[in-house]
Amino acid sequence: MAQFAIIGLGSFGGSTARELMRLKHEVIGIDREAKHVNRMASVITFAAIADATDEQVLKELNIQNCDAVVVAIGEDIEASILCVVHLKNLGVKQILVKAKTDAHHMILSHLQVTRIIHPEEQMGIRVAQALNYPMVDQYMSLGDQHFIVSVEVKSQLHQVNAAQLIAAYAPVRLLMIKRQGKIIKDVDAGLMLMQNDIMVLEGHINELNRLARKFEND
Ligand code: ADP
Repeated sequence: MAQFAIIGLGSFGGSTARELMRLKHEVIGIDREAKHVNRMASVITFAAIADATDEQVLKELNIQNCDAVVVAIGEDIEASILCVVHLKNLGVKQILVKAKTDAHHMILSHLQVTRIIHPEEQMGIRVAQALNYPMVDQYMSLGDQHFIVSVEVKSQLHQVNAAQLIAAYAPVRLLMIKRQGKIIKDVDAGLMLMQNDIMVLEGHINELNRLARKFEND
């Protein structure tokens, strides 16, 4: 169990805090508005009404002892930056910050925070990707145009040989197949696909794109 602090309990900070609690971590939440703190008080470990631009306040809340701090302040860019500077002064090692504008992003990268998050843009890209590749259930970018994707086998690939299908799209690799809740990691040469199988594949976007067409709805 780790201890995290979330500064700014709006929709982004609030859902980050809830999920960390669900994952059985300790969460301290701070917001300068009472209504946000009251909403989260019974959900997280400790919630405080406080101004995160005040270094003394952060110190009194023992923020420096947290494993990571998420700065989820929305519109007030000045407050976000000031808070990050205080966290740095207090020696917090892991600082993740929600960024609002390009200028905000640039300043945060100079401050060398652990991670800069653009939730709206990132979600927008995900939604566009999902519309563009409706056959892809989930994906993870490995950088350099390489991805891990999961796709569901539809009726047109039922009883198709898995290894032969993938071999035609080399160097795409089949990492595993999930069939009726069970994971098949060693896919032998004779394995036939079944409708509703989930295939987890790794490869370059170009080959994955070609292969993905095979998974399109009829
Ligand atoms: P979103 O809901 O999109 O995540 P918001 O801008 O609504 O973003 O949420 C940011 C939260 O950060 C708000 O609840 C706001 O009260 C809080 N906040 C802004 N400035 C400070 C500050 N200096 N100290 C503590 N909380 C702050």
